[in-house]
Amino acid sequence: MPEQRVDLLAIAAHRDDVELTCGGTLAKAAQAGHRVGILDLTQGESGTRGDAATRGAEAERAAKALGVQLRLNAGLPDAHLQNDEPSRVRLVELIRATRPRVVILPYPVGRHPDHRIASELGRDACYLAGLAKYGPAGEAHRPFKVLYALAYREDPVKPSFVVDISGTFETKMAAIRCYASQFDGAKAAGEIHPTGQDLYQLIRVQSAHYGSLIRRAYGEPFFTHETIEVQDVLQLGVQSL
Ligand SMILES: [Zn+2]
Repeated sequence: MPEQRVDLLAIAAHRDDVELTCGGTLAKAAQAGHRVGILDLTQGESGTRGDAATRGAEAERAAKALGVQLRLNAGLPDAHLQNDEPSRVRLVELIRATRPRVVILPYPVGRHPDHRIASELGRDACYLAGLAKYGPAGEAHRPFKVLYALAYREDPVKPSFVVDISGTFETKMAAIRCYASQFDGAKAAGEIHPTGQDLYQLIRVQSAHYGSLIRRAYGEPFFTHETIEVQDVLQLGVQSL
């Protein structure tokens, strides 16, 4: 069995979700030498376009494009995701096997019910994975940090921080373009509402907007419930005036 331990694990409902919301951040972390993994909760069997087998092959190509070391699939039911005991047990197993320090989850509010449920299910499983006497096999492990990918959300929530993905934006786009069955000719996807523009152009515009918030070309926004710690105010970036 290949080494499954990672430093950073992105968990999301559907293949292609993490590419859309945090692909640039994953590629950047991998380039920095961290071990990065993706855990897709479902296989996309209920998707309107394509089928599970096609999306599986696309997901593998996208993982290679991003440069991540590991891509797992929990095999939970697409469009019927539940935060129930069997699903939590399955995720706890996978979190204990991969032992990430940082986990990226979908934002707790979303258009697609699977996105909302993946967020809650992922957070609960991160906590439960740290309880030594909980459920299935595997040594207890609780991720240190949980981040929520905030991209495309229209809720009045300010990002806790934005990752500068100027250096990996084209890598993110290359990974997204692996999902031709989903996205070629599409005008919307996931949490991205249509404006009439081509989807790839829409992602570029949105990423440029998030980048502008930190005075960079492209960015990906995140939310944390916790306050971010700063040790030296002289090192703070982003010009105020
Ligand atoms: Zn999705």
